[in-house]
Amino acid sequence: MPDQKSILVFSAHAADFVWRAGGTIALYSSRGYKVRILCLSFGERGESQGAWKQANMTIERVKEIRRAESTKAAQILGAEIRFFDSGDYPIVISQATTDAIVAEYRDLQPEFVLTHSFLDPYNPDHPTANKVALETRVYAQALGYPLPGKALNAPPVFLFEPHQPEQCEWKPQLLLDVTPVWETKHKAMESMEAQTHLWEYYTDLGKRRGTQAVRNGGPKGIRYAEAFQRVYPQVTSELS
Ligand SMILES: [Zn+2]
Repeated sequence: MPDQKSILVFSAHAADFVWRAGGTIALYSSRGYKVRILCLSFGERGESQGAWKQANMTIERVKEIRRAESTKAAQILGAEIRFFDSGDYPIVISQATTDAIVAEYRDLQPEFVLTHSFLDPYNPDHPTANKVALETRVYAQALGYPLPGKALNAPPVFLFEPHQPEQCEWKPQLLLDVTPVWETKHKAMESMEAQTHLWEYYTDLGKRRGTQAVRNGGPKGIRYAEAFQRVYPQVTSELS
């Protein structure tokens, strides 16, 4: 096992990890965890409207802009980020990328994994990222999968909140208090200049989830939270 505990975050596009899990990433980074983000696509076709409104834009320039924004956001949150440039609309995962991600699992042996919801009728790349995260996790567990490294145990997988949760059949099952790192998340959101319209939306959502955390028995001091849905059963000796 590596000495430093770690978490693995799957982000379909350049900014998804910021809106949906930026607080969680900053929180675990502040606790000394290594946080590694695997960014499958720059979102160069679908989630870069702001960049495409600029004059003389090209697909390569959009990718450069998104890479720079994303790298800056990851730095602010205290995370490492790796880009796979697997296309956009659609993301297509090669065998080489599959193997590289299996190797990430075996190298990091993460305490838990964050990824997208199973469904998202607004963006087909998000379920692709979910599928990639879950499939490669299973491959990394298999002793017979022909890559070096220790086989993976069974890290829990948490699905972060999609933009329109009802349509994605996603429900919040955990509310994580991210109040201590909210300013950090907000700074990371501000580095996403191609999507300024989302800053306020995700600030409002963080507040709403924070209010719900208090309503569900959390300490009164919670002001901001991020919500997750589990994939696998929680193993426990206590019901709480
Ligand atoms: Zn996305």
